[in-house]
Amino acid sequence: MNRNLKKSIISLFAILSFCIFNSSSVTGQISYLNSIKKIDIHTHIVSDASYLKDVMEELNMKFFTICTRGTDMDRINFQVNAAKEFCNQYPRYYAWSTTFDLTHRNDTDWINQVKRYLKDSFDNGAVAVKVWKDIGMQIKNPNGEYIQIDDSMFNPIFDYIEQEGKTLFAHMGEPIQAWMPLPIGADGKPRSYWANNPEWHFWDKPDKPSYNEIIAARDHVLAKHPNLRVVACHLGSLEFDVDEVAKRFDKYPNFVVDTAARIGNLMSQERGKVRAFLIKYQDRILYGTDMFGGMITSSGAKRTPEQAERAKQSLSRRYSNDFEFFATDNEISRRDYSIRGLALPKEVLYKIFYGNAVRWVPGINKDF
Ligand SMILES: [Zn+2]
Repeated sequence: MNRNLKKSIISLFAILSFCIFNSSSVTGQISYLNSIKKIDIHTHIVSDASYLKDVMEELNMKFFTICTRGTDMDRINFQVNAAKEFCNQYPRYYAWSTTFDLTHRNDTDWINQVKRYLKDSFDNGAVAVKVWKDIGMQIKNPNGEYIQIDDSMFNPIFDYIEQEGKTLFAHMGEPIQAWMPLPIGADGKPRSYWANNPEWHFWDKPDKPSYNEIIAARDHVLAKHPNLRVVACHLGSLEFDVDEVAKRFDKYPNFVVDTAARIGNLMSQERGKVRAFLIKYQDRILYGTDMFGGMITSSGAKRTPEQAERAKQSLSRRYSNDFEFFATDNEISRRDYSIRGLALPKEVLYKIFYGNAVRWVPGINKDF
């Protein structure tokens, strides 16, 4: 046999065995992830639905549903009353976070009203409290200034949450793009969440708080309440660079983040850097999607069985895409680009998809 041919055969064999070895180890990771218990820590479920339970059964998953929006009492009460009911009825499938009213914040006994409301939620199984971007970007004090999350008015509430052993979920600010010009689509029209929600678009509005001011206020809460567990939603609104998240992890031991609606931001950063970040901070990241679900749509209409079936399929697709990204090293095509999965080690997958949720949000029923 000629030497070159022999060499080619040997290297072909090396490549083949590498592929076989590599694919079998990665296959192991995806089947491992499929098999273990998982919690989606950031969902908005408005009602129980059999299509949701089907998805959870199929994936060995539980949904953590978050009530939100302190500026709309009817909306809060609707979500809280529903969550009380279906989370207690189906503890295998759902756990929940409550929130509190901001509309009576100038009443002299507002703090007591909030504490009573939170206590009732805790008595009904809530294990966390959510604060949202309306603090920092919408509500103002009697002097007409925007109220930030580190305002002393919230201190007794945070102390109470800490004292009750609950966790704070904080979605403060917006992605940094809210302080940048709107992207323009191919049709020449602005295209983004803020094109439809201009009240949250702060670009070129000098009277509005800056991105840095809002993030600094959130960081100040972490420093002021070192014993309060804080799950900062959406990669802590630091979605553009994992190094910014890492800096806070190093500085604030009570700070963790969820991935809700920001997995695309992990995909768009350099793979090696993101993978190293997730491995280094494997105890600080909680998997979440920000998906909406239930038998009522976001517009308040009842879902038909056909719509529920479509919602179920799109949900299953979404989870399987996410699992592929975290657990395999497949080339994954996303619209007009392709990225390679992270192939995270099993112990890291376990923590991100389950272990961190039950550790940082104690009280979630683990029996499923
Ligand atoms: Zn959300």
